[in-house]
Amino acid sequence: MSPTAENLQAVRRRIVEALQGVGREVVLVAVSKTRPASRVAEALEAGQRDFGENYVQEALGKIAALEGRGAVWHFIGHLQGNKAKDVARHFDWVHGVDRLETAERLSRHRPADRPPLEVCVQVNISEEDTKGGVAPEAAPALAKAVAALPGLRFRGLMGMASPTADEAVQRAQFRRLALALEAVRAAGVPADTLSMGMSHDFPAALAEGATMVRIGTAIFGEREPA
Ligand SMILES: *Cc1c(COP(=O)(O)O)cnc(C)c1O
Repeated sequence: MSPTAENLQAVRRRIVEALQGVGREVVLVAVSKTRPASRVAEALEAGQRDFGENYVQEALGKIAALEGRGAVWHFIGHLQGNKAKDVARHFDWVHGVDRLETAERLSRHRPADRPPLEVCVQVNISEEDTKGGVAPEAAPALAKAVAALPGLRFRGLMGMASPTADEAVQRAQFRRLALALEAVRAAGVPADTLSMGMSHDFPAALAEGATMVRIGTAIFGEREPA
């Protein structure tokens, strides 16, 4: 078994443990930013389907190299307006939408022969200025506007907790995202996705109701500093 396959198996086992018998579907997004296509291919061979990428240019090469292999591509980075066209054409999901203008651009550029782009609105749950995302109170209005765009399918919310090892803090921040999703639904917008949890905090995210976790380091090893 490749090290990638072994790590994937260990992460999947930890996800099941963290769910503590709750029979919820959880999608594991393997975050493959900075990794070559050969590592993604190893993960595909180990049965992994969903991959997260942060850098458009880098991702396009991998998407082309692995075409036809059944990978589902998630854009999880900060989306610059001038890259919206490439993302709308080549990705399946976008997790970081925090402006209506970006969503409109994605919708406009989504090719008519592809299903709508699956979209999560990003919410700032850590109260750090450096992280993107709308304030939790703004999530229902943006969700409603995104859900109305023809090229997109609104799925739910994405958030990132502070880089802390304190599980109580992680859980309190993830709970904010779960509550914001409840507010979105209460506003009449259907949603099924809570995209939260990374290598160091996914057990806390799962305890607070994550349906999708985005994990890089625990699968592919430490990244080279950028
Ligand atoms: C890089 C990244 C991840 C994965 O982080 P790891 O610590 O490697 O698991 C998850 N989500 C986003 C938005 C990222 O940028």
